Amino acid sequence: MKTTKKGARGLKPAAPKAKSKPKAKSAGAAKGAGKAKAGGAAKRPAARAKSAALPRDMVPSKDGAELIHDWNADGARPTRRLELVDETLRDGLQCPSVTDPPIEKKIEILRLMVALGIQNVDIGLPGAGGVVNQHVETLLRVIKDEKLPIRANCAARTVVRDIAPVAEIQQRVGHPLAVSMFIGSSAIRQYAENWTLDKMLQSASEALAFARKEWIPIIFVTEDTTRAHPKTIAALYNLAMDFGAKSLIACDTCGHATPSGVTRLVKYVKGLVAKRRSAARVEWHGHMDRGLGVINSIAAAAAGADRIHGTGLGIGERAGNTPLEEVVMAIHVHGEAMGVHTHVDTRGIHPISRKVAERSGIGVAANKAVVGRNAFRHASGIHQDGVVKFRETYEVLDPAAVGNERGSEIVLGKLSGRAGFRARAAELGMVLADHELDAAFERFQEIADRSREVGDDVVRDIVRFARGEAECHASVA
Ligand SMILES: [Zn+2]
Repeated sequence: MKTTKKGARGLKPAAPKAKSKPKAKSAGAAKGAGKAKAGGAAKRPAARAKSAALPRDMVPSKDGAELIHDWNADGARPTRRLELVDETLRDGLQCPSVTDPPIEKKIEILRLMVALGIQNVDIGLPGAGGVVNQHVETLLRVIKDEKLPIRANCAARTVVRDIAPVAEIQQRVGHPLAVSMFIGSSAIRQYAENWTLDKMLQSASEALAFARKEWIPIIFVTEDTTRAHPKTIAALYNLAMDFGAKSLIACDTCGHATPSGVTRLVKYVKGLVAKRRSAARVEWHGHMDRGLGVINSIAAAAAGADRIHGTGLGIGERAGNTPLEEVVMAIHVHGEAMGVHTHVDTRGIHPISRKVAERSGIGVAANKAVVGRNAFRHASGIHQDGVVKFRETYEVLDPAAVGNERGSEIVLGKLSGRAGFRARAAELGMVLADHELDAAFERFQEIADRSREVGDDVVRDIVRFARGEAECHASVA
């Protein structure tokens, strides 16, 4: 993990710790850990033991790497830069449950994308006209005036009348605005639209020629690529490359693909680009209809895609787009094995996720990966004990690394054990001696059996009672 600062609650120690101390951190932390602390000169492992047990008199490194045999890794390799494309302000807003935020809120989200280190943003579909058109122009002006290090693009159908507003906005603002021109590429779309391939190529040629004439950077998008015939894909992409397309976007518009299918498709498109000796990038855009958006994006990156698309919290049509925060953290942890890196400052994930939830009105599931309320909360006694001793026992992400200010949390309830209770009490400034713990824990269990969650005030009450300082009035929390 790149960040080590703990959150403000939960397992955060009362005072800053010395760097080399083990992770066990509260009064409940444990036998054994104390040995390493007490010595002051605990040995560090000379090399990664990789799954071999580590003697308790040795201090594991910060991420506990010596204690983990990583089946994901098949050896470190040189990494290439993978760019991200944030679709929250266009595709994300097509989610049936979100409200279109006012422009000030979109600007806030845009700035948070920049803080996170996102390199590309889709700022809308100006062909829709009206307020969307105005918002695209305002967002592009903000990018220009504030010199934000992010490249803007906007969506358009592959028809001149949709691309003309993009050209006008680029002209008026005087800042590059790429067009992501999309066309359905699968036989299903052809059937539904009554298109022949010749008709599609003719329409695309006109649109591409117009964009080139207007000096708009061209991004060519084949919708439903994952269900399209290879010959159709080749015909469309070859045409786009004829007109100097900077990027080709393969889409899993309906969430149909599996990782192996994505791998084959991305390699196929890379092959088309290589055959033409084109410099066009290959981008991947996937949806979540079968819940495979994240793993498909990882497969695309591993297969050589240059850019990955997604949205904050995965908002988007139907079951949504690929949740960008989940892709980012997967790459943050496993990028070396995948041969890619993003240079994203992952601490910006929580702030932008909160803002997207707030401004779009979408609810976030408590068990959502990375940013859900329960993502770093531990309820069962076994887990609490493990986390108190060494956080990585049950957490593969550091909450601080994703900007989660609450940090890891022990949630006290009927499943909690002595270690969790003692750790929480210590967090509240009440370090329990062994003889106090017995009485307090007994009372805690009586209350916990009748409660869903035992809150901090009740814990304080229980501890005071155990010390004979007060009667315990605590009942069901
Ligand atoms: Zn989409």
